[in-house]
Amino acid sequence: MSQSKYLSNLEPWQDPKAQPYVSIKNITKTFGGRIAVNDVSLSIYRGELFSLLGRSGCGKTTLLRMLAGFETPTSGKIFIDGMDMTDTPAYKRPVSMVFQSYALFPHMTVEQNVAFGLIQEGIPRNEIRDRVNAYLELVQMSGYEQRRPNQLSGGEMQRVALARSLVKHPKLVLLDEPLAALDKKLRERTQLELVNIQEKVGVTFIMVSHDQEEAMTMSSRIGLMNEGRILQVGGPTEIYEYPNSKYVANFIGLVNLFDGIIVEERSDHVIVKSTAMEKNLYVSHSASVPVGAQISVAIRPEKVMLTDIQPKDEYNWTSGVVKDIVYLGDVSIYHVKLRSGTVIFATVANLVRAAERPIQWEDEVFLHWQSENGIILAM
Ligand code: ATP
Repeated sequence: MSQSKYLSNLEPWQDPKAQPYVSIKNITKTFGGRIAVNDVSLSIYRGELFSLLGRSGCGKTTLLRMLAGFETPTSGKIFIDGMDMTDTPAYKRPVSMVFQSYALFPHMTVEQNVAFGLIQEGIPRNEIRDRVNAYLELVQMSGYEQRRPNQLSGGEMQRVALARSLVKHPKLVLLDEPLAALDKKLRERTQLELVNIQEKVGVTFIMVSHDQEEAMTMSSRIGLMNEGRILQVGGPTEIYEYPNSKYVANFIGLVNLFDGIIVEERSDHVIVKSTAMEKNLYVSHSASVPVGAQISVAIRPEKVMLTDIQPKDEYNWTSGVVKDIVYLGDVSIYHVKLRSGTVIFATVANLVRAAERPIQWEDEVFLHWQSENGIILAM
């Protein structure tokens, strides 16, 4: 994950002295009275690979297009490197956009495509040649200079589009679902390549994605959007391990949610009664919600342990019947139906072959988890 580059220092978003590189302040965009982006404020720091993540129609592309200058905000302000860019036209912003379709010129060679922006800027020929060569090498496309886009694979076109963007030395690169056109294997490989390139050039990237795995793999931080609003901003681990709402917990990965009420609340734990299971849930962190409050406890499937021996603990276990086993190669996801009808997911590493596994379909099993693995979420 690209966030590792910050590990030796304080991450900029945790450093009160750090100045954001991109500041989005209370940006709203309406189209004919319909709100597409709703009062979004965000601070993005130099060198980040920040992802705007959310379902189709949540407003992420509109926000990206406002950063590029292709849309004007209805209200709010955008600052890049301390300069108010809200009313600056697209061509005067220090920003370059990589489109989903790559938007390469079909009649031009790879070399001409990458050189195009530099020729427009009137840069001397020698410098253009050197820069085009350097960036084609960076994206590992040296040797393809004379090909046309229709002689390239999707992944190669994506790399040329990136070189064309970076060669102009933008301060900020905006990527609109840059890998959407690639098949799964190539997409996974290109994700890592893109992160390596971004780290090498040190440019700030803001990327739009609806693919949570992609955002988790690539991003320094993620801004999760829904209905025009940012619900949570955080590093991939933070968003996964500490979602701030049921929506976020459900959007990022698979999750088990137990709706219930708080029956005991202390500074170091809470106890929750849920109609989904016979035993109460014990969560070993505080929640600033009073006894009697309706909440939900989230537990990730990989934190749920499966056994055929009844646990002796007072809390955090239940029993059910295996109704489905989804085999994914390295792991299997067991779907266990509790007496209440609730289905719980448990991810189990496939340490032995399928036929040798002790727990099979229709088996009565016990599910249990550690108290530190529950997360209290507001309803
Ligand atoms: P997707 O992943 O499908 O691209 P998105 O999250 O990027 O979705 P946006 O494209 O930002 O979503 O759209 C947000 C909302 O604004 C949608 O309801 C969309 O229909 C609407 N919208 C976007 N552009 C326009 C426009 N030019 N005119 C009218 N409505 C628009």
